[in-house]
Amino acid sequence: SKRTKIKALLTGEQVDVNVRVKGWVRTKRGNKNVSFIALNDGSCLANLQIVADPNNISEDILKRITTGACISAEGQLVASQGAGQKVELNAETIEVLGEADPETYPLQPKRHSLEFLREIAHLRPRSNTFGAIMRVRHAMIFAVHKFFHDKGFVNVHTPIITGSDAEGAGEMFRVTTMDLANPPKDEEGNIDFKQDFFGKETNLTVSGQLEAELGAMALGEVYTFGPTFRAENSNTTRHLAEFWMIEPEVAFADLEDNMDLAEEFLKFLAKYALDNCREDLEFLKERALQEEKNLPADKKNELNLIERLEFVANNDFQRLTYTEAIDILKNSKPNKKGRFQYKIEEWGADLQSEHERFLVEKHFKKPVILTDYPAKIKAFYMRLNEDEKTVAAMDILFPGIGEIVGGSQREERYEVLVEKVKAMGIPEEHVWWYLDTRKFGTAPHAGFGLGFERLILFVTGMTNIRDVIPFPRTPGTAEF
Ligand code: ATP
Ligand code: MG
Ligand code: MG
Ligand code: MG
Repeated sequence: SKRTKIKALLTGEQVDVNVRVKGWVRTKRGNKNVSFIALNDGSCLANLQIVADPNNISEDILKRITTGACISAEGQLVASQGAGQKVELNAETIEVLGEADPETYPLQPKRHSLEFLREIAHLRPRSNTFGAIMRVRHAMIFAVHKFFHDKGFVNVHTPIITGSDAEGAGEMFRVTTMDLANPPKDEEGNIDFKQDFFGKETNLTVSGQLEAELGAMALGEVYTFGPTFRAENSNTTRHLAEFWMIEPEVAFADLEDNMDLAEEFLKFLAKYALDNCREDLEFLKERALQEEKNLPADKKNELNLIERLEFVANNDFQRLTYTEAIDILKNSKPNKKGRFQYKIEEWGADLQSEHERFLVEKHFKKPVILTDYPAKIKAFYMRLNEDEKTVAAMDILFPGIGEIVGGSQREERYEVLVEKVKAMGIPEEHVWWYLDTRKFGTAPHAGFGLGFERLILFVTGMTNIRDVIPFPRTPGTAEF
């Protein structure tokens, strides 16, 4: 039989109608004369109150309705007497679809710690917190496609199994069809990795960028939004081994255009969340404030979650060069001892997240776009600047996160690119197809990658990346 979603009942205007709802019981309270059941069906954060009168609903059924049980309830939707919600359901019939043994059901009607919820990842979508995060995550997926669709970009699916390592960082998961108990050997007796995938060395993609560039060089403006894999053997709160990335690539664009696009995109996403996820964001804001309660004053956020989103939506980001940032960092005293954990000794070092967060949270107090990084610490495809020491790169840094976007103008000059490929020791047979786009009808172009889970960290106010993806893949965790 048909059901109505609770969200529709709570946001609609209808009362005094007969409806059926189905969902999971959050709590049941009451007395001999009446029971009140809080029912959640995932369509929204709020529960629907179901009023069960023992004259209609048998004692046996009422007994089986416990926290976690799944029920189907039918009856009259009426205006609510109590404060809080405008409607409630006077149950005429209730069917228990699935019981949940109160002795062993792990979710209690209270706020569980995020650590505990991670241990029961298979059931955590039933918690208020994770339900809210998943709805916000969905809204942001939709917003990403809306932004690019409205601008006329073409979505390109880039391969998951690939022979290339775009970033050159060697963080790849190998994909192989080899019999590892009896691997094929080359003439020197070493494992012949060329046999990985029926004659080709293959791995899971670390980025769809190189293939997206092929799209841009024909369709003009494209974007990818797909899973990426990095064998990160580190346990940070912002790295996953499997994460989703959005990578637009734009022909005839330079670094300036690239920064403008990325900034407009992030502002759009913040505004979209505020306009479309209000109930969940208000809940997550309160949750974050509770979590922050026990932190020392200097670790607390100056703005709450909603204010941070409004700030990003309405204020321009700070733009400066890597070289200028190094000068600021050298002359700064960030902690009580007056130094960074990782000292920036000289020009040329990569920034650690503590430096990135210092610039954003303490120095500028706004999102930062850093440009023109040393060529040595960036990937081969970034366009060499006239000084021949730096590249037209940009990283966007956000509060609480550090790097959220990495991008660049791409090297479109064939000779310069070939030179770089050689200098970095990249085998030409891995990138011949990429070089071809420079050989035939090359054009200036630029793009960036936004880590989707880092975006969701920002939008939900969560602090650990394991809490914003349904099935986090980190070293040692891949149960399902
Ligand atoms: P980081 O310096 O934080 O390791 P990166 O510079 O290696 O990031 P890029 O290669 O520039 O990352 O990838 C583009 C974006 O993808 C990053 O700006 C970030 O938002 C996201 N990202 C990169 N690695 C991860 C990861 N392991 N887990 C989640 N998101 C990631
Ligand atoms: Mg990295
Ligand atoms: Mg980086
Ligand atoms: Mg980067």
